[in-house]
Amino acid sequence: MNILLTGGTGYIGSHTAVLLADAGHTVVLFDNFCNSNKTVSARINQITGHDIPCVEGDVRDTKLLVKTLHEFQIDAVIHFAGLKAVGESVREPLKYFDNNVAGSISLLEAMQKASVKTIVFSSSATVYGKPQYLPLDEAHPLNPINPYGRTKLQVEEILQDLVKSDPSWRVALLRYFNPVGAHDSGLIGEDPNGIPNNLMPYVMQVASGKLPHLNIFGNDYDTKDGTGERDYIHVMDLAQGHLAALNYLQDHLGCEIFNLGTGIPVSVLELVGTYEKVIGKKIPSQIASRREGDLAVCYADTSKANHTLNWYALKDVHDMCTSGIRWQTFRSSLEGSRE
Ligand code: NAD
Ligand code: UDP
Repeated sequence: MNILLTGGTGYIGSHTAVLLADAGHTVVLFDNFCNSNKTVSARINQITGHDIPCVEGDVRDTKLLVKTLHEFQIDAVIHFAGLKAVGESVREPLKYFDNNVAGSISLLEAMQKASVKTIVFSSSATVYGKPQYLPLDEAHPLNPINPYGRTKLQVEEILQDLVKSDPSWRVALLRYFNPVGAHDSGLIGEDPNGIPNNLMPYVMQVASGKLPHLNIFGNDYDTKDGTGERDYIHVMDLAQGHLAALNYLQDHLGCEIFNLGTGIPVSVLELVGTYEKVIGKKIPSQIASRREGDLAVCYADTSKANHTLNWYALKDVHDMCTSGIRWQTFRSSLEGSRE
């Protein structure tokens, strides 16, 4: 298949590009580099041994998308492009609705014009909001608590309405839990700008000495050790979920929703403890107050993806840490060479 990856040089897009190319698909990347680095596509080529085209463009540029879809005879799109910082979405909601929602409408219009009607959309577990029960299955009520989450829900609803209006579409809505880790080569990984918000990249920067210590946001939750529990999923398992969804859509019209997680809740202390074991040293940390809006526990019921897509997350927290460390080492060398 010829597959267009919007946001293809970002964290999840780059790993999925590698996996799809390794599986024999023809991949085209489309990115405006607002949150990625232009060197990523060369590193994807280095890993895969393929010369993967990378179109510089914004998903709100419908004309360029139509041209790209025709030029590369695209059969299916995976739509990763979007902004994802929750705090920024609270401060600048219009930027988020424009980029994530208007950007998706522009992409869907382009796909309609080019008669490309297969799409996998990067949604998020944030669409569920505060869990009413756990684990979260796809039927759990939806109540996102911030603008970022609402952009994801709106795009899900747009895609569902589109399928109702034209049943020849094939749509998979993938609700990711907490993607972490990196490709085993260590050449690509999560590359946040500035001080990271998320636990794993923060821990990695403390380990490398870039940040002095980790603040553990609360140790008085009703959890196994008092710290927050999440469903961390290795980014290569997540990438595999996209391939499984594309395979599924080849034989299925309509719209299906899948949670992609491991189904295993892991606490902050457990994740940090595994990281310390792998690197053989302590991560300096202190207990801080709870972070506003944080959930105590969030993890997936993955049985639908397991049974329908025959997809299973295979990698554990140890794999997430070792691959993350390899990437962090390479990333530090890149930063060193930039200085
Ligand atoms: P990322 O920021 O690393 O990648 C997104 C990519 O999209 C970047 O390369 C960015 O430059 C590009 N982009 C953004 N706006 C664009 C636009 N208007 N036109 C073209 N390119 C644009 O993020 P990621 O972690 O790889 O996330 C990919 C998708 O998955 C996002 O939609 C995100 O909301 C969703 N998601 C991510 C997580 C997570 O924790 N990483 C969890 C759930 C859902
Ligand atoms: N967390 C923390 N310190 C940090 C960042 C995160 O203790 O510097 C905790 C956070 O409170 C949550 C877990 O780590 O319990 C995962 O947070 P992250 O932001 O990675 O994911 P999200 O909360 O968005 O699912």
